[in-house]
Amino acid sequence: MKELTRKRILVTGGAGFLGSHLCERLVAQGHDVLCVDNFYTGTKDNIAHLLDCANFELMRHDVTFPLYVEVDEIYNLACPASPIHYQYDPVQTTKTSVHGAINMLGLAKRVKAKIFQASTSEVYGDALVHPQTEDYWGHVNPIGPRSCYDEGKRCAETLFTDYRRQHGLSIRIARIFNTYGPRMHPADGRVVSNFMMQALQGQPITLYGDGSQTRSFCYVDDMIDAFIRLMNTRDHPAGPVNLGNPHEVTMREIAERIVAITGSTSALELRSLPIDDPWHRQPDISRARELLGWQPRTSLDDGLVATARYFRARIQASSMSLPDADANAGADFAAPLAHSPT
Ligand code: NAD
Ligand code: UDP
Ligand code: UDP
Repeated sequence: MKELTRKRILVTGGAGFLGSHLCERLVAQGHDVLCVDNFYTGTKDNIAHLLDCANFELMRHDVTFPLYVEVDEIYNLACPASPIHYQYDPVQTTKTSVHGAINMLGLAKRVKAKIFQASTSEVYGDALVHPQTEDYWGHVNPIGPRSCYDEGKRCAETLFTDYRRQHGLSIRIARIFNTYGPRMHPADGRVVSNFMMQALQGQPITLYGDGSQTRSFCYVDDMIDAFIRLMNTRDHPAGPVNLGNPHEVTMREIAERIVAITGSTSALELRSLPIDDPWHRQPDISRARELLGWQPRTSLDDGLVATARYFRARIQASSMSLPDADANAGADFAAPLAHSPT
């Protein structure tokens, strides 16, 4: 790669599910990648295969504290993403989103770096507009169990936009809808990882509510394409961009497809619906299509087959029994990895 196109890129939360895929892609493109993570939910295993690469560096650091490094681009992904993890220490979740954003924006301002924020479809809350467009302001409970995440991410969007207005920063805000694939943590309580682990181990599939709530699932490779396109777009957008797969399914459908794809004999078992669980989610990706020339390519079945292969290999490689994948039954929350007793 020519020195002119080789960039120094910081990825916060780089040892997590999405971050590790992003680091891998950027390293393969020949950039100098600095992965910063406090291993709250991410693991060294996720990036172990990159540690020997000369253009990859790992730093243990918490983004709620200042960080002084010299980089050209920053992808700010640091934040627990699964409900059981972000609700375990809600004050820390808000601090990570808000103080983390301030520190990374301060860094971007000092070194004149472009900066990307991993925002979320959760900024729409229990949406009253369907599918969700970027100009919808959302319907968010400010004091519920999901608020630490939803409002933290909303405040981070405000900070990004104000650093742009006030200090002229070059920003990108991606509103990421549910994404799945290899390297999701098996015990993170998210629906795809839960159902995969349950199906592959012959345990009951824990369907919350009556399973008629919907989500739209994007395969991780498609999402990483979109991240990099958004960062690289010349004509950078003033506002946030929805990234996700518009193919919407009910949780009952996804349970049935995972059971079929894994050849499982597991039965569905109804459990109570968590508080403030959004009723439906579907991204309107017109802006991403137009601006990035991007749309997801991976079908749900292909993505689930690849994901099942990953979880099957993990189960086979692990002789220890994995923690109960059902976060909604019994415990109020489950400890993130960095706080697990083991
Ligand atoms: P993840 O939990 O696997 O990764 C988050 C990473 O951030 C972990 O490696 C964790 O250890 C690290 N981290 C957390 N707090 C930190 C701190 N204070 N300092 C440094 N590192 C810290 O989650 P993910 O699914 O990879 O999500 C990545 C980003 O994308 C998050 O910001 C999340 O909000 C956003 N997002 C993800 C999805 C999705 O479906 N996966 C959807 C919407 C938004
Ligand atoms: N900051 C950082 N790295 C830098 C520059 C700034 O972590 O390279 C932090 C700094 O600690 C500050 C925050 O970013 O708390 C916001 O910086 P900014 O310059 O916007 O504001 P100020 O320093 O005036 O509070
Ligand atoms: N869900 C479920 N069973 C599970 C885990 C989740 O039915 O074992 C449901 C959950 O109630 C929600 C949907 O699946 O309606 C997506 O949940 P997830 O935690 O993956 O993501 P989010 O709610 O943040 O979109």
